[in-house]
Amino acid sequence: MNFSLNPQSPKTEAARQFLKTGPKSVLIGAEWQVLDDQFDTFDPATGTRLATLSRAGASHADAAVAAAQAALECPDWANMLPAARQALLWKIADLIDANADELAELESLDQGKTYATARFAEIPASAAQFRYYAGFATKIHGQTITPSIGYAPKGKQVMAYTRPEPIGVVAAITPWNSPLLMAAMKLAPALCAGCTVILKPAEETSLTAIRLVELMVQAGLPSGVVNLLTGYGHDLGDALAKHPGVAKVAFTGSTDVGRILLNSARGNLKKLTLELGGKSPAIVMPDADMSLTVLGVARGIFANSGQVCVAGSRIYVHRSVADQFTEQLAAQADALTLGHGLDPKSDLGPLVNEQQAQRVARYVDAGRAAGAEIIAGGTRIPDAPAFYRPTVIANVSPDMPLMREEIFGPVTAITPFDEVDEVLALANDTDYGLAASVWTQDLSAAHRLSAGIRAGTVWVNCHSYFSPELPKGGFKASGWGAENNAAGLSNYLEEKTVCMVI
Ligand code: ADP
Repeated sequence: MNFSLNPQSPKTEAARQFLKTGPKSVLIGAEWQVLDDQFDTFDPATGTRLATLSRAGASHADAAVAAAQAALECPDWANMLPAARQALLWKIADLIDANADELAELESLDQGKTYATARFAEIPASAAQFRYYAGFATKIHGQTITPSIGYAPKGKQVMAYTRPEPIGVVAAITPWNSPLLMAAMKLAPALCAGCTVILKPAEETSLTAIRLVELMVQAGLPSGVVNLLTGYGHDLGDALAKHPGVAKVAFTGSTDVGRILLNSARGNLKKLTLELGGKSPAIVMPDADMSLTVLGVARGIFANSGQVCVAGSRIYVHRSVADQFTEQLAAQADALTLGHGLDPKSDLGPLVNEQQAQRVARYVDAGRAAGAEIIAGGTRIPDAPAFYRPTVIANVSPDMPLMREEIFGPVTAITPFDEVDEVLALANDTDYGLAASVWTQDLSAAHRLSAGIRAGTVWVNCHSYFSPELPKGGFKASGWGAENNAAGLSNYLEEKTVCMVI
C-alpha cells in the first residue's frame, strides 16, 4: 500500500467561491436562512474545517413541514401538468451535469471519496435519477374498473376508477457515504409523484445537498416543494421522523437508526422506506475468471473505502482456488494508493472521519485478538487519523463481530468452501440481506445461488452495479421497500379508489 497525503484545494472557481462565501444551508419555503446555532463540516483527509453550517432543530422542522404542506396544496405544484413536471426534473438533471466538476470536488472534499468516483460515477448517477423519473412523470395513470358485485339500483350502473395521488410531505434522511446520490434517489421519485420534501442530509456531509437544492431552485421548483434542513440526527432527524405533518420518511442509513425510526413513525403511522445495513457475500466458484474476479471483488469491497452498504465484506472462495485468490486479492489491496480524494494519484481516500477509522480498527483488532489472520492491511496510518489500510483477513469464525456486523470500512474476511449447498448456507448465515455477488461461468451454479441467496440484489460476475431501472431494496434486517424502478416511485404514491353509481 502506498500513502501520500498532499492536501488539496478545489480547482473550480465555483467550489472555491461556494466554500469562501459560507453557504446558507437552511431553506424553508422561499427563504434561505443562517441560524445562530451552527456546526462545522471538515475535510476528513486533513481535518481542516471546510464550512460552518446552520444547525436546525425541532422548531425548524415545524416550519419546514408547514412550508411543505402549503406547497402540496399550492396550484403551481399540485396542478402542474405532467409534461411540465417532466421538463422540470430533466432541467435539474441538466443543471447537475452542468455543475458536475464543482459538485464532484465538493463531494470529494467533504466525504473523502476520490474525485474520479464522484465525478464519473456518483454525480452522473444522480443526474440519471432525475432523467429516469422525468420519464415517469407523464406515465402515472390509474385504472378504470367495472366491479362484479352489483348493488346498483335497477337501471343504474356501477363504475370505478383509481387515482394515484402523492403521499404528501416526505422527510428524506440521508447518510454520509454517497451524499448526492442518496439525496437524488429520494428527491427524484418524490417530485415525480407530486410530493413535497424536507431533505436532511447527514451532518458529516451536507455540502452537495446544499448545492443540489440551490440548483433545484434555479431550475424553477416552486417555493416550499423542497426544503433543506442541516443538522443532527438525534434531534432534527428525530423531530422530522416523529412529526405528525410528515406522511412518509425515506431513509438510508444504519439498521440501528432504522429500528429507532420504526418507533418514531408510529404516532401517525407514517410510511417508511428503509435502506439499511448489509453484510454482503461475494462467492467465488472454482471456474471463475480469476483476474476479472479479483478485480471485481476488490472493487466490491474497497471502493469508497468500504463505506458502501452493499460492500462485499464476506468472501467465500472455493477451496481449490482459495490460495491463489487470497494471494491476488491481498496483492490488489497492497497495490492501492491512499491519499487525499482530490489528489489524482489516490485510488482510495480516507474514511468519513477519525471516529469511523477508530471503529474499523476496533473490529479488526478484536478479530486479531480472537485468532483471525491479517493477510493485508490491518492498521491505521500514523499521523493520518481518518485513514485505514485496505484489509484482507482469513480465519474469521462465523460468530466474530467481524463476520456478523456491518463495519463500513475497507475490510473483508475470506473463508474457503467445498460445496454449493455449503456456501449457500454460509452466505445466508446473516441477519442482513442487502446484496451478494456470484463469480462463475457455470450457469447452473449462477442460477441456483441467485435463487437461494436471501438478498435484495444478486450480481453475477459483477458487484455494486447500479442503475435507476434496477430495484434496490433489502431483505431481512437490510430494510423495507425498494428504491429505483417503478417500485421506487410507488413508495411516494397512494392509490385512491373512486366508485360511483351512475
Ligand atoms: P450512518 O451509518 O450512515 O452514519 P446513521 O443511521 O447513523 O447512518 O445516519 C443516517 C442518517 O440518519 C443521518 O442523516 C443521521 O443524521 C440520521 N439520524 C441519526 N439518528 C437519527 C434519529 N434518531 N432519527 C432520525 N434520523 C437520525
